This record gives sequence, C-alpha cells and structure tokens, in this order.
Amino acid sequence: MPLDASLLIVGAGPAGLLAAWAAARRRLPGGVLVVDRLPGAGAKLAVTGGGRGNLSHLADEEAFASAFGRQGRFALPAFRSLPPEDLRILLADMNVPTVADDAGRIYPRSQSAPQVRDALLHACEREGVRFVFNHAVSRLVSPHNAAAPWKIDSWTAHSVLLSAGGQSAPRLGSDGSGFALASALGYDLTPPAPALTSLRTAEHWPALHSGVSLPDVSISIAGKRGTSERGELLFTHRGISGPAVLNLSGRVARLLLAEGSVLLHLALLSAAPDFLRLRQTDGSRSLHAWLARHMPRALAGTILELAGIPPDQTFSRLTAEQGKSLHRHLAALPLAVRGTGGFQESMATSGGVSLKQVHPETLEGRVAKRLHFAGEILDLDGPTGGWNLHWALCSGHLVGTVADGG
Ligand SMILES: Cc1cc2nc3c(=O)[nH]c(=O)nc-3n(C[C@H](O)[C@H](O)[C@H](O)COP(=O)(O)OP(=O)(O)OC[C@H]3O[C@@H](n4cnc5c(N)ncnc54)[C@H](O)[C@@H]3O)c2cc1C
Repeated sequence: MPLDASLLIVGAGPAGLLAAWAAARRRLPGGVLVVDRLPGAGAKLAVTGGGRGNLSHLADEEAFASAFGRQGRFALPAFRSLPPEDLRILLADMNVPTVADDAGRIYPRSQSAPQVRDALLHACEREGVRFVFNHAVSRLVSPHNAAAPWKIDSWTAHSVLLSAGGQSAPRLGSDGSGFALASALGYDLTPPAPALTSLRTAEHWPALHSGVSLPDVSISIAGKRGTSERGELLFTHRGISGPAVLNLSGRVARLLLAEGSVLLHLALLSAAPDFLRLRQTDGSRSLHAWLARHMPRALAGTILELAGIPPDQTFSRLTAEQGKSLHRHLAALPLAVRGTGGFQESMATSGGVSLKQVHPETLEGRVAKRLHFAGEILDLDGPTGGWNLHWALCSGHLVGTVADGG
C-alpha cells in the first residue's frame, strides 16, 4: 500500500516549516505532510519579538555554540547547514529581506513576524507540502522492521520529524505533548522547566518598586560559579524581570525543581563604591542623596533600610560595620526566588529530549531509525536575541535536507 508521505512532520512551527520546505524541494517520492494541532501554522512564530520577529543573530559557530551553554556544540552541524547569512539569503528569496540591529539581532525589514510565518507557509505550499490542521498527534508507532513504515495516528510515513516544540506558551500550540510522544518511544527527557520568564521573589520589597528598571545589573545564583548574567533589571509586582533575569531564569527554574529554593545575588552598581574616599570628598552628604544619584530615590531608601542604615546618615558618620553592610547590599543584594512566571509566561522551555539519544549530524534519534527531532523539543535553549528561532530554523533545515525519503 502506498505511504501517506515520505516525511511526516509533527508540528508546523518554524522548525517544522523549514524542514518541510527543504524536504519538499528534494521531490521525495511520497511527498511531505505536516500535521499541527492548531488551526494554522506558526502561531508562536507570528508573535515572536513582540510581533517584530527577532529571527536570528549575527554569529559565527563559536558564538552560536556558547550561547547555548554546556551542550552548545551539539547544535553546530545544524548551524553549519544554515548559518545566519544563508538564512538571510533564503528569506530574501522568499521576499522577506532582513536587517540586523547594533546588537546583531536579525529582524525582517518589515518588522513583521506574521510576514515571516506567511512567507514560510506559502513557500511550503509552492513546493507541494500538504498540511493537516486541527489534529493533535497522539500516537507514534515505530517500524517493526527496516522496510516497514512509521505509523502516526491513522497515517503512514517512511520518516518522521517530531518538531512539536516544548511546553512554553501552550496557547500557541506547544503543550508538551511532543515530550509525551518521545517519552512513549523510549526517549529520556531532561525535566522541562520554563525559561525566559520572570522570577517571583519571597521578598515583598521589589513589588514596592514595580515598573522601576536599572540599566546595568549583574545577577548570579549564590554558590554557583559561572551563572552571572548582566543587563537591565526590572522590578515587577511579584519580583523581578528584564533581559538579565530572563536569561538566568531557565537555570533558576531547573534548580527550583531540584532543590526547592534558589538564592540570587544582585550587584546593583557597575563599580563598587569607595567609601573611604567618599568620606573625605563628600563627608557631609547623606548616603540617601548619594545613592539616589545611581537609582530612583525610593529604591535607594529601601536599600539603605535593608542595610540597616538610617536615611539621613552622612558619609562622615558611617561606621565600618554600616559601610560593610551597605557594600554587601550593593554588591550582592540577596533575593530568594520562590517561583517563576511558569510555562504560561515563558518564551522557551529548558530541558526536553536528551541530546545523548540523538545524532547531532542528522538529528535522527538513536532509539528507532527514521525519526528525527528539531527545534525546542530538544534539550537546548538559548538566551533572548534570536538564538532560539535560529536553532529552530537551522535544525529544521538540517532534517529537511537529510531525512530518508524512502
Ligand atoms: C511570546 C514569545 C516570543 C518569542 N520571541 C522570540 C524571539 O523574538 N526570538 C527568538 O529567537 N525566539 C523567540 N521565542 C521562542 C521561539 O518562538 C521558539 O523557540 C520557537 O518557536 C520554537 O520553534 P519550534 O518549531 O521548535 O516549536 P513551536 O514554535 O512551539 O511549534 C511547535 C508546533 O507544534 C505543534 N504541536 C505541538 N504538539 C503537537 C501535537 N501533538 N500534534 C500536532 N502538532 C503539535 C504546535 O501547535 C506548534 O505549531 C519566543 C517565544 C514566545 C512564546
């Protein structure tokens, strides 16, 4: 009996769409079929970057690998299959010219993420890719011998790509069901945790300053080396957010799963103050007035209160103990995290299908032949800045290029 497809793709996100396009161009005998649980393709892609679509990042191999941390080298074969400059050419050919900002972040020139989604979808349709929407795949049955097909619910296919995303923003499609499908086939999962999300603190004082941001703060996890993130910090009504917090949040969420609580240290000033010199040059000045030059006045008051220093204290009357306490509160302000914004709020999922069980050169799983993985379903997540979308797009591209079409 003829198969329903040479390659069946579960999930029409950026990973699935690029895989479908690349595979369809190879004119596989049974064609390419994409199944998605939502009514249309790329729901999440269309809202990325606040609707502007931060698609990628100007980066070489080393920068790309290091953005993904300890396991980053796994991503290199996919990166080589579609580096950022090739992605930009590919998108320009689809009538989506791109621009890069000063930080290296790549956006469509139109600043429209929906335009990118529509261009990918139409490019797939032009190459003859077939789509089935409003169907959540619930069962994958592996081939019983080398010649047999995969069974995917009621369909058959020679090869399968599982690009069902992670568990973040489930309203946009990725509800974790891809993890369940992989796990049922014998794949180990690194426990999924929300990443790129805000953090909720046990302390209530951050809420008093909700909406206040500090432009250059270093945040690290107390007692964990190499966890420092630097950038803008925003106080919220439940704790903290902003780029530095988002980029640390995946590691914090995983630690919360493992250890139940996490202590952060915040360095609020870019350089440590020299109190000895300030006593000489600004002896009569109040600490509050001095601190209010570096942060909003109300926040300066809170920091002094936490450090146990009266607001009208002058530098000339600052005791050695008070100096030490203020130094500690400016260089390593403690904040206890009691939760995160969760999967509903998170922009990426940390954890997922274990990389040990997947060949990086083909993204084919090691448990059963002709099943590939791409995108966020794998145990890789990067910081904000276009890295996650580039990973989804280039990993999909690799699978579309190498998958066995029978
Ligand atoms: C609000 C927001 C903003 C973001 N902004 C950026 C940004 O600017 N830059 C950046 O790099 N990254 C950004 N990201 C992250 C980025 O969107 C993801 O990393 C990327 O979409 C992952 O692509 P994917 O194809 O692996 O998965 P997804 O985009 O999640 O797609 C998975 C698809 O699989 C479908 N699916 C799931 N389960 C099933 C099933 N059982 N059967 C059938 N279909 C199924 C889903 O409906 C979905 O369409 C953002 C994320 C969010 C939530």
